Amino acid sequence: MKIAIIGGGVSGIITSICIEKKDAEIYILERNKEPLKKLLLTGNGRCNYYNENQSLDCYHSHDKDILEQILTKENLDKVEMFYDRLGIIPKIKKGYYYPNSNQAITIKNALLEEVKQKNIHLLTNTYVESIVEKQNQFIIKTNQEEFIVDKVIVGTGSMSYPKTGSDGNGYQLLEKYHKIYKPLPALVPVISNDKKLQKLSGVRCEVSLELFEEDNFIKKEEGELQITDYGLSGICTFNLSSDISRGLEEGKKEEIKINFVPFIKTLISPYLDSFSKKHPKKTISSLLEGFLHDKVVSLLLEKSNINKDSYYQDLSNEEKMNLIHSLRHYKVEIIGTKGFDYSQTVTGGISLKEINPHTLESLKRKNLYVIGELLDMDGVCGGYNLTIAALTGILVGEAIHD
Ligand SMILES: Cc1cc2nc3c(=O)[nH]c(=O)nc-3n(C[C@H](O)[C@H](O)[C@H](O)COP(=O)(O)OP(=O)(O)OC[C@H]3O[C@@H](n4cnc5c(N)ncnc54)[C@H](O)[C@@H]3O)c2cc1C
Repeated sequence: MKIAIIGGGVSGIITSICIEKKDAEIYILERNKEPLKKLLLTGNGRCNYYNENQSLDCYHSHDKDILEQILTKENLDKVEMFYDRLGIIPKIKKGYYYPNSNQAITIKNALLEEVKQKNIHLLTNTYVESIVEKQNQFIIKTNQEEFIVDKVIVGTGSMSYPKTGSDGNGYQLLEKYHKIYKPLPALVPVISNDKKLQKLSGVRCEVSLELFEEDNFIKKEEGELQITDYGLSGICTFNLSSDISRGLEEGKKEEIKINFVPFIKTLISPYLDSFSKKHPKKTISSLLEGFLHDKVVSLLLEKSNINKDSYYQDLSNEEKMNLIHSLRHYKVEIIGTKGFDYSQTVTGGISLKEINPHTLESLKRKNLYVIGELLDMDGVCGGYNLTIAALTGILVGEAIHD
């Protein structure tokens, strides 16, 4: 039996390793001169490949009921076991799994060693142009040669970071078979129209962010915010960006409220009263700089129309309320994202409704399988997207056996 796997990314390579079929002749067709290009970029080169905190809330899909059938506890355990079998010792930080070497290349090398040992044909510089049906088989046309195969597995990635090879052509290969939810950038920085905030470009601060869509609360995230000359970045922003992308696509108003003082757990007014009593000679800006970045202080005072040389105890009640509001609920309108060039994944893709959740085989065309980021499933930051890539590969591997 001949099997073609289109794409030598994480999902494609893992599928090839997991197929246990003696008579299978497996071809991985990869357009780049090297496989696993994107893997090397993951986790800032350290590869965050799994997370022990698994919940459906960490993932998005238009069909969460089907997603739930894929992401069962039993299946997720298989991902951890796969890396264990591969000989990867994890370094686990707050539930995030990295290879103990702290190097993504450890995982690349381990995967490729398996490919070699299993005599899988890894053909690079091979760009798949089309999949044509021939009775019960498929003709895979490439820029090199044609392959006639019995099964085809499509793992071309989505259209995030297109310079790594995933430029969206996989959707074109599959559009004749499958419904595709429009892919939109996810885990991506967002653009605001707040010129005053943009002037703080380079500032990093610990915040909590609340996403509001058409004034309705959607989601809250905490962590380090990176303010840029176009808007907001950092992991907590990324984790809101999938919802933002979808909302903007539907023409909805998207706003993020920044709480610059999430560490003040009590009511803020008595906190400031007592802090200013302790330091009565400090001007308001110097007082706030006790716990905030000086540029953030200037922004918030300007926003609240408060002179930086005034004293907290001299402020009117209205000024105090304005200040407290700015500290806790600084509102930023989001008008776009930085797009696919900057997005670590996409939201949307091949509809799960047309895919068997146990085998990842197409329900539209027998012997055609879809894996990885191409599918309408995406995760937040923390190893969840590589989990999707690995798990879908493992399930296809299990489905194709003696
Ligand atoms: C900067 C960055 C950091 C990230 N960090 C993390 C992280 O720490 N943890 C995490 O879980 N996720 C992370 N991700 C996401 C994760 O890397 C992806 O979700 C995952 O690699 C998807 O695997 P895939 O196999 O579906 O696609 P890809 O890894 O994109 O592989 C697809 C492959 O198919 C090839 N291809 C495409 N079209 C064709 C064609 N027509 N013919 C032949 N070959 C083709 C491409 O060249 C590519 O090699 C990160 C992503 C980026 C961009």
